Amino acid sequence: MIEFQSVSKQYSAEAVALRDVSLSVAKGELVYLAGPSGAGKSTLFKMIAAIERPTTGKVLVNGEDIGKLGKAAVPFLRRKLGLILQEQRLLTDRSVLANIMLPLLVTGAPKREAEQRARAALDKVGMLDRANAAPLELSGGEQQRVAIARAIVNRPQIILADEPTANLDRASADKVLDALRAFNAVGVTCMISTHDEQVLASASRVIHLDHGQLAGGAA
Ligand code: ATP
Ligand code: MG
Repeated sequence: MIEFQSVSKQYSAEAVALRDVSLSVAKGELVYLAGPSGAGKSTLFKMIAAIERPTTGKVLVNGEDIGKLGKAAVPFLRRKLGLILQEQRLLTDRSVLANIMLPLLVTGAPKREAEQRARAALDKVGMLDRANAAPLELSGGEQQRVAIARAIVNRPQIILADEPTANLDRASADKVLDALRAFNAVGVTCMISTHDEQVLASASRVIHLDHGQLAGGAA
């Protein structure tokens, strides 16, 4: 489902973010991505979403070579993905509900349907009672759960969550992870990057990156 074949990414002469990474993640798997700051975790996610392209090597999603996608095909790839990226914040000038409706409205869903689906998505992450709140009225953990609702509202096959529990306390982090695990339990492939040692210790599969390289060989 997701495959990296000898992928390297060099942003500039000094910035080599990934070095010869080969890995594969099967449909329905839950995989954690670990590694120190600067190891290349966000870069790896961005390559799956065709936000960044490999310098060398191939990234395949459902057997399709992402590097060969034309501009017109990229939105179709992204619709398969639920992205929770580090720098993608909620829009602060509109309600929680409006934030979740937005990805549906831009793909042409009628307003009434968009609202129903947005409410259902908020319900799944336990945030329906905060639908009319402004994002800045929410705690960090609540904001992350809303970001998950936004990512899953288009029913993606794959969720990529980049440090969704950063800066959260134990209880909030567990709620965010439980929400993600619930989607995995119904068949959604999940990749979650985290520095959370407790979560990594009990994970069934962890991919370790260090200085852009897989620790412990191919995964
Ligand atoms: P963190 O845990 O801090 O989020 P990370 O593992 O996500 O780190 P990346 O953001 O993937 O790391 O960065 C990997 C390396 O690539 C770093 O050395 C970073 O400085 C560099 N890098 C990332 N994005 C760019 C960019 N757009 N231009 C140049 N260099 C970049
Ligand atoms: Mg990062």
